[in-house]
Amino acid sequence: MTERIAYQVTHEVLDECDFHLDLHCGDGNEDLMTYLYYTETGDSELDQKTKDLAKNFGFKFIIHVTADPNEFASMCARASLFKGKPALTVECGRLGRTDEEDIQSIIRGCSNTMKHLSMMAGSPELKFEPVWIKKTTYIRSENEGIFYPLAYRGRHVQQGELLGYLTDFFGNIVQKAIAPHDGIIMYIISTPPLSKGEPMVKIGGF
Ligand SMILES: [Zn+2]
Repeated sequence: MTERIAYQVTHEVLDECDFHLDLHCGDGNEDLMTYLYYTETGDSELDQKTKDLAKNFGFKFIIHVTADPNEFASMCARASLFKGKPALTVECGRLGRTDEEDIQSIIRGCSNTMKHLSMMAGSPELKFEPVWIKKTTYIRSENEGIFYPLAYRGRHVQQGELLGYLTDFFGNIVQKAIAPHDGIIMYIISTPPLSKGEPMVKIGGF
């Protein structure tokens, strides 16, 4: 079923579009801050168009990642990029909630993009000079268990800071989530259960 959906989205949607915004709202267990991904492919003309798209969406934080077009496109926006179409992955929302502020951020970003592409009248409303994040690190669970976060999205953290801990099902602490470097919490898991190998915290560095 998943492969059928992927096939339909690839051919019925991505093949038809010129630009692509993939709107994500954090997974249901993520206390996630608002950011977007700019993916560099090595094709300078495409990369410039994608970068312009990223800047004009209007979010403050942009994660800069690189992708090899010869690789399998594991994400929807990458599938568009590998077809030569500028595409962004937008992250805004958290924990399955529908906060008005997050909804307005996404509406503003989509309107900004349409103004940038002359699909709407006016010029994009850009409130921030973007902050580019080039380094991100995941702290992953080494066991299944119950996660207790001690921090929240968007918080600046210092190397060595305790950000949360994992217990077994009897309450014994089995792992501490320690910040490996200074940075900002892009997201932290904020519902209790965790499987082995899942990210507990994603930290962006500058
Ligand atoms: Zn996502």
